This record gives sequence, C-alpha cells and structure tokens, in this order.
Amino acid sequence: MRSGIRVKQLSHGRRESRFTGGAIPGYFRRPYGPGWALVGDAAYQKDPCTASGITDAFKAADLMADAIDDGLSGRQPIEQAIAAHPERTCKLFKQTGKGKGDAVRLGFAHATGDILMILDADLTVAPEELPRFVEILTSGKAEFANGSRLVYPMESSAMRFFNLVGNKFFSIAFTWLLGQPLKDTLCGTKTMWREDYEALVANRSYFGDFDPFGDFDLLFGAAKLNLKILDLPIRYRDRTYGETNISRWKHGWLLLKMVIFAARRIKFI
Ligand SMILES: Cc1cc2nc3c(=O)[nH]c(=O)nc-3n(C[C@H](O)[C@H](O)[C@H](O)COP(=O)(O)OP(=O)(O)OC[C@H]3O[C@@H](n4cnc5c(N)ncnc54)[C@H](O)[C@@H]3O)c2cc1C
Repeated sequence: MRSGIRVKQLSHGRRESRFTGGAIPGYFRRPYGPGWALVGDAAYQKDPCTASGITDAFKAADLMADAIDDGLSGRQPIEQAIAAHPERTCKLFKQTGKGKGDAVRLGFAHATGDILMILDADLTVAPEELPRFVEILTSGKAEFANGSRLVYPMESSAMRFFNLVGNKFFSIAFTWLLGQPLKDTLCGTKTMWREDYEALVANRSYFGDFDPFGDFDLLFGAAKLNLKILDLPIRYRDRTYGETNISRWKHGWLLLKMVIFAARRIKFI
C-alpha cells in the first residue's frame, strides 16, 4: 500500500545523474590447501555495508590462530606426549605430598640413571641448558652443578626486586656457611651423581629435613658430603607455564630459619 503511494509520488521525479554505489563483484573460493590457509576476504567477498567483511576476517583469524597453536605449539596432555615417544624412558609420577621438595624427592627416588637433574616445569630455564650441567659432572670439574640465575641478564619480569635481594642475601650466607662460593642458592636447576644423592638421603635429618623446596636440602647435603659445588650461569626467562606457589615473605622466613639451623650444625658445633 505504502510503496504504491511512493511510486506514485516519485513517478513525477527526474533523475539528475546516473546511480553510483560500492558494488564490488562477489566471489567465493576455497582458501586452503595442503599446508596453507587464508582468512577473511581471501575466502569470499561479502556485502561491505553489513560489517560482515571485517567481523568475519577477525573471527576467522581467531579460529585460525587457535588451530595453528593446537597443531604447532606441541602443547598436549603430558600422558599423550609421553605415549607418543615410547623410545624415551619417560616416567610420570603424581606426588602425594606437597611442594617442590617433595616432588624432587619422588622423582629422584624413581630415577634410574647415574646423574640426577632438576628442570623446573615453569620453563624459566630452557632444557637446552642441561647438557652443560651433565658435562660439568662427567668432566670431573665439579660433583654438584648448581644453576645460577644471577649472572646473565634476566628477562624483564623474571625476578621481582625483593626476591632478588633475598637471593643475594642467601648467596652471601651460603658462601660463608659452606666455605664455597655460591651465587644463587634457590635456582631450580641442580645436578648431581645418584650415588652422592643416596648418601645425602641417608644424612638428610642432620639439617632438619624441613625444606619445602629441596634446594637447601641438596646444597647442605652436598656440602656435608664435601662435594665440590660449582655455579653454572643459566639464562632465566619469564615463566611461560603455571603460577608460582612461592610466598616470598612466608617462605623467605622459613628459609632463613633453615640457614640458622644449618649454621648451628656447621659453624657452631
Ligand atoms: C570500499 C569498501 C568499503 C568497505 N566497507 C566495509 C564495512 O563498512 N564493513 C565491513 O565489515 N567491511 C567493509 N569492507 C570489507 C572489508 O574491508 C574486508 O572484508 C576486510 O578488510 C577483509 O579483511 P582481510 O584481512 O581479509 O583483507 P584485506 O583487509 O583486504 O587485507 C589483505 C591485505 O593483503 C595484502 N596483500 C594482497 N596481496 C598481497 C600479496 N601478494 N603479498 C602481500 N600482501 C598482499 C593487501 O595489500 C592487504 O593489506 C569494505 C571494503 C571496501 C573495499
């Protein structure tokens, strides 16, 4: 009814010039093949006025980014990753206790090789650093390789200011206590011979056996066995996986108590 009226009203009108518009020829094509894929207008051309062009381009880019990440990042459940490599003697254990120290003790108890090493799962230290740790032991330059984060420059948010101060303090305290220079006591990356570790386990209660992280336990134990400890600089990166479980004041205080306990045993017997 209404359109009928409009047509009637316009029928007296006169076109001043020719119609123009944003007409873009449409197309639809397959934007992927083996090993490649494209997003957005590469697939099909839409009406620009409905905003579907830009919206689709962003949506498709998002989908594509997720798909590429799934396929190429290598991230997958640990059980799957281990099952994919039967040629490697990987073992997976779930700790029943708490804390990193407990996890290290569980892993070390099940390890079958001659050399035991720790690599933190937060990947602040790259696995590529580990061969140097083995080499230092097999070459006889040291009997305990201790990673040090405080030599090379770190990535920007890898260590907060007060953690850095605490680490420097423990470094000075341990150097004095153990009579061996130690730059960084709390670096997760540590390597030692298994037979030394077994001797360390037998003496564990000597230093109180209350270390939640396992670092001091290993360092005190190694020093008690008179092992030659050597600092190995590692590159410390921002953590890429998981959240820290360390509460710096609470755990810092606990670590300080451990140092005092050990000082009584070592320096003031
Ligand atoms: C006039 C006009 C108005 C529009 N208005 C709207 C609107 O209002 N709302 C809306 O949603 N959409 C609108 N669109 C559509 C929208 O712009 C597209 O859908 C959107 O930009 C598609 O994004 P894209 O990343 O797939 O492609 P593009 O944004 O076209 O990006 C492709 C890029 O690849 C580059 N490139 C091409 N070939 C090569 C090559 N061989 N090597 C290297 N680089 C290359 C190009 O230079 C370009 O930078 C309009 C389009 C036009 C033309």
